[in-house]
Amino acid sequence: MQLYKNHTLELYNSLSGKKETFTPIHEGTIGMYVCGPTVYSNVHLGNVRTFMSFDMIFRYLQHLGYKVRYVRNITDAGHLTDDGNVENDRFVKQSRLEKLEPMEVVQKYTVDFHKVLDTFNFLPPTIEPTATGHILEQIELTQKLIDKGFAYESNGSVYFDVLEYNKRGMNYGELSNRNIEELFAQTRDLDGQNEKKNPQDFALWKNASPAHIMRWNSPWGEGFPGWHLECTAMSTKYLGETFDIHGGGMDLKFPHHECEVAQGKACNGHSPVNYWLHANMLTMNGQRMSKSTGNYILPMELINGDNTFFEKAFHPNVVRFCFMQAHYRSVLDISNEAMVASEKGLQRLMEALEVAKILTPSTTSSLDISAWKKSCYDAMNDDFNTPILIANLFEGIRFINLVNDKKETLTAEDIATLTETISTFIFEILGIKDEKATSNNSEKLEGVVKMLIGMRNEARANKNFALSDQIRDELLALNIQLKDGKDGTSFIL
Ligand code: AMP
Ligand code: ZN
Repeated sequence: MQLYKNHTLELYNSLSGKKETFTPIHEGTIGMYVCGPTVYSNVHLGNVRTFMSFDMIFRYLQHLGYKVRYVRNITDAGHLTDDGNVENDRFVKQSRLEKLEPMEVVQKYTVDFHKVLDTFNFLPPTIEPTATGHILEQIELTQKLIDKGFAYESNGSVYFDVLEYNKRGMNYGELSNRNIEELFAQTRDLDGQNEKKNPQDFALWKNASPAHIMRWNSPWGEGFPGWHLECTAMSTKYLGETFDIHGGGMDLKFPHHECEVAQGKACNGHSPVNYWLHANMLTMNGQRMSKSTGNYILPMELINGDNTFFEKAFHPNVVRFCFMQAHYRSVLDISNEAMVASEKGLQRLMEALEVAKILTPSTTSSLDISAWKKSCYDAMNDDFNTPILIANLFEGIRFINLVNDKKETLTAEDIATLTETISTFIFEILGIKDEKATSNNSEKLEGVVKMLIGMRNEARANKNFALSDQIRDELLALNIQLKDGKDGTSFIL
């Protein structure tokens, strides 16, 4: 499918502050990097929203026919707490709290993250690199920045020299629209103030104090990498010095992404990213969802109904549909009412898809299905406008009901286009899990196993015990156990 040749995709680029027509660096392929989770605790529902926005974008880009290399990292080292104190590395702090090795903390919450993504039917990224797996690359980058005069060593730590960067004609603040004077006033990184030339200089490498457990050897002594550097190291390694799309939550624009721009430009003399995409926040009670303020809900608590905020449990598909009903660049306030409305809406869509199966085709169509289909693509091509797309899908549902009520007519071909388009957008692009398809699959599997049991019975009746044993053993190798009893053979899948 090479749909992209007939489609012009408009993306809102945070760097220019406007929508731009998307042109990939290499025709037909896209490199996309999205900042992954810091795996020192369970991801909250807000984190899930951001990752889901990029899952939808990944799905749509692939649907358009692009070959996408989608890199989403795991931050498993060097993430300081908000007060910037080295002793408060999140992993070290959590490992003390849980009496676990820092790497056990990493493993525990990486497993949890993957389980959550699986629950919400995410596609895996094509590469999922870890910060700790790329320490050498980060040391090399740091050295390169020192060699080029953009970084300096101080007390075993290495800092990026923001003033030097600006002196050489670049503009630290171009992504987040800040100027250097503002940054002087706003800096929150209190750690290492007396080591830095200027307060807004940021750490590329931090000297580890004796108490710091996660540490690596470097030319500057034992230490650990700065958070901003890991994304530059991994995106450059897997996507090149300049790649197409970089994504993440809005809150990462400054300082994290700003620092990535500076590191990339200082290293290579050109911008590391062509299109910066930022997803907006999930709020609850009108306030940003965040672990630090306690205003958060865990995804599993919403699904199990094990919380005090929602009146009942909600299926992961409903959560996904609710998120998709907001544009990825808009704030979404999660509420019981919003979830209930999404549940009803999704049910209406599913019911209409069933009705569509029994529609009676006519020789002519009174509705313009190709214009309707185009409007679905137009919505998605306009900076992934999922709320407009969903409004169009409901319009498609209205068509199905009108034809069913004999108020409008559609040809068999138009009925097929209408239902296929709705299904494609719902399941393939918005990522709603097709429960029917998966339950059908288990029915099919049961049918196949029953057929094999019949064939085995026949083999046994013919005294062909070699074949009957082969069927039993090969099923067992697939973890399907046959049990012979006096009432015949049963099986455990
Ligand atoms: P972190 O693990 O803190 O680095 O966050 C992982 C991702 O979740 C980042 O892209 C954040 O921008 C994003 N994020 C954090 N809080 C929220 C929120 N309330 N709503 C949406 N995304 C969020
Ligand atoms: Zn990042």
